[in-house]
Amino acid sequence: MAMTQLTTQDLTRIVAAQGLPTLLARLVDYLEADFRRWPEFDKSARTAAHSDVGVIELMPISDASDFSFKYVNGHPGNTRLGLSTVVAFGVLADMRTGMPSLISELTLTTALRTAATSVMAAKVLARKDSRSMALVGNGAQSEFQALAFHHLLGIDEVRVYDVDPAATDKLVRNLAAAAPALRVVRSASIAQAVRGADIVTTVTADKANADILTPEMIEPGMHINGVGGDCPGKTELATGVVAMASVFVEFEPQSRIEGEVQQMAADFPVTELWRVLTVQAAGRRNAAEVTLFDSVGFALEDYSALRLVRDCAIELGLGHEAGLIPDLRDPKDLFGELAAAPAIARLKAA
Ligand code: NAD
Repeated sequence: MAMTQLTTQDLTRIVAAQGLPTLLARLVDYLEADFRRWPEFDKSARTAAHSDVGVIELMPISDASDFSFKYVNGHPGNTRLGLSTVVAFGVLADMRTGMPSLISELTLTTALRTAATSVMAAKVLARKDSRSMALVGNGAQSEFQALAFHHLLGIDEVRVYDVDPAATDKLVRNLAAAAPALRVVRSASIAQAVRGADIVTTVTADKANADILTPEMIEPGMHINGVGGDCPGKTELATGVVAMASVFVEFEPQSRIEGEVQQMAADFPVTELWRVLTVQAAGRRNAAEVTLFDSVGFALEDYSALRLVRDCAIELGLGHEAGLIPDLRDPKDLFGELAAAPAIARLKAA
């Protein structure tokens, strides 16, 4: 029974072989396919272990044939320690036998799936003539967001802003190399970045109820892609911004706890995205409507991403035996496995 391990290096090989635009486009296809069969999944809000400085979460989901989970953290102060704000790994397993088939890095993959999910939402929520995007928060996720919107939605200008100018330097440098046709404009403030933008992406990290966007910044017809508010007590938008928007979420029970809508009354109306994708609910209704994708990240997105990286690895011949599952000739003789380490056994006996 083989369990394949995919490392960060394997992921970089997949991106190099496919090209980022193609890989992101495939990921959007996988996400849309899974969101369209939403009722087939056994869903729950993720379990979260909170501390004063961050959160560690487990995100499980299953259908009749597959089970997956992701381990992920969110520690906004980590970059000061030279550590990432978000790291992750995940597992795919067979529901019929419980045998895990894949363990994969999900740090790069989370950035890809979060950007692809943002695009999936913007396809039905942003104005079709959207060409410019403000990008507030220029950390680890930001290039992925910018490139996904550029390659898949025709965004040709991003206005970028971060309280840390070095983060913006890094973003500008990376985008110049990765997408020379994308116009990147440094902004002196959030208000300047947002003014006149068709889409506004917020992807900041701060364990606070922040006011990254306030109502006077919001113009008719804007689509807000709110990515960084994803925990109790960790939001990015002033309450007035949420109140003025038509709000779309992934899995309502989780978003009510973690999303921007945690600020609103329990009966504040939200629409789950899968209902728009299956044409049971409207997305954007007119050119003046303000739409908000209140993204928190849902287990189904990681399942879709795990399916894709598994398929890519098979296509490219990547992956290694993880060595996490005993390979027993007689499944009842687990004890016999110990005999495979005679040197250690002899050492103990001595
Ligand atoms: P990061 O720490 O690498 O980058 C965050 C950036 O935000 C930093 O450069 C920081 O200087 C900037 N920032 C903080 N406060 C700001 C402010 N007031 N104005 C402007 N910039 C500000 O983190 P990351 O990995 O890029 O993640 C960004 C956020 O996205 C985190 O909050 C993370 O939890 C969240 N996230 C959400 C999802 C999802 O599915 N919704 C997925 C991954 C990450």
